[in-house]
Amino acid sequence: MDREPQRNSLDAYWMPFTANRQFKTNPRLFTSAEGMYFKTTDGRDVLDGVSAMWCSNAGHCRPRITEAIRQQAGEMDYSPAFQIGHPKAFELANRLVALMPGGLKHVFYTNSGSESVETALKMAIAYHRVRGEGSRVRLIGREKGYHGVNFGGMSVGGMVANRKMFGTLVAGVDHLRHTHGDPRNSFSKGEPEYGAELADDLERLVQLHDASTIAAVIVEPVQGSGGVIVPPKGYLKRLREICDKHGILLIFDEVITGFGRLGKPFAVEYFGVEPDLVTTAKGITNGVIPMGAVFAQSKIYDAFMTGPPNAIEFFHGYTYSGNPMACAAALGTLDTYEEEGLLTRAATLAPYWEKALHSLKGHRNVIDIRNIGFVGAVELATGPAGPTQRGFAAYLKLYEAGVLCRTTGDSIAFAPPLIAEHKHIDFLVDTLGKVINSID
Ligand code: PLP
Repeated sequence: MDREPQRNSLDAYWMPFTANRQFKTNPRLFTSAEGMYFKTTDGRDVLDGVSAMWCSNAGHCRPRITEAIRQQAGEMDYSPAFQIGHPKAFELANRLVALMPGGLKHVFYTNSGSESVETALKMAIAYHRVRGEGSRVRLIGREKGYHGVNFGGMSVGGMVANRKMFGTLVAGVDHLRHTHGDPRNSFSKGEPEYGAELADDLERLVQLHDASTIAAVIVEPVQGSGGVIVPPKGYLKRLREICDKHGILLIFDEVITGFGRLGKPFAVEYFGVEPDLVTTAKGITNGVIPMGAVFAQSKIYDAFMTGPPNAIEFFHGYTYSGNPMACAAALGTLDTYEEEGLLTRAATLAPYWEKALHSLKGHRNVIDIRNIGFVGAVELATGPAGPTQRGFAAYLKLYEAGVLCRTTGDSIAFAPPLIAEHKHIDFLVDTLGKVINSID
């Protein structure tokens, strides 16, 4: 048997969420990154139009973060996550809760958005049980929602391609209708006018299942991976009211909206709606080291803190929960965000961004443009070869023209690093306009 590694072969690596065969016939490889740009193997600069994967909010290779990791690696590489702590995990938790308004004053560490979602769903079900309402086990998600790829998140998620291959998923899950596609809302700037009443869909599910069986509702405040679907004005407040009326916990999945994307540290503050649990990841370490965190209301934390004091209260956690390297990276990230005012900078960029993106109205096949804070999407009409054809063509052409985006179906999404300047927005939108007009 030939056991010499084929160092330059692309075959062994089964890439995630990638058209492997297409990629391997024409690979796209980044070798370095700095600030707003990646560099490709053939020496081209590619403008990061989507914070890599909605995570590099401070841009790339930021010195504070790099140095924090370097130092931590030499000081303490790892320490046990269970029954032992280390100072940076506590320091980070204190700094995180200081950024979050209201009563969300406790954090539980994970390693990804998917794990944050699983953690929050488990917390919700267990919370009801510790309070003697063990019949509340159902979970409600929303169509077009994305909550990661693990079984709980996939089940409450609402993106068909992510679900259909994987069996019957978790039992006892139902979905609210999505809020996308009302023609009256096309080309809305910021929050659309119409559709707050779609939150009443929760009342329908309560009628069907009875509130006494429902543990929690999970939604992304702004649906990101579904194609930047901005909630109609008043929708989230209404959802909160209906949850309160029926004793249902509300979970905001802020894996994308967290850490400054909307111009406030979290969407909780932006929308003025306080959920019971908030899931985060990505921007917590600027994407540099895998990490996530679930914020919990004190009432939830306190409900678990009963029974004998030496008994474990929540049988859940990960080997890498609060990993020292991740905590160091997160502290370096928060320093960077705070020193440069990045958690609110999107509010300053938003008007310019909105105007620039909406200038593409009237371009070929453009049927909608959506934006909020420093995130946005341009939706193309589905082409003759079916959904995703135009979207993926745009992705490839943008890459060739030096702009990185994300696509969902035929929506082309952007969420550039929060350090962007007007010249970056100009280049992005100018290039996008040319690319769109070149697609049949
Ligand atoms: N939740 C939301 C809202 C997301 O956007 C994502 C990833 O894009 C996830 C969860 C999953 O995060 P991860 O890929 O880190 O598991």
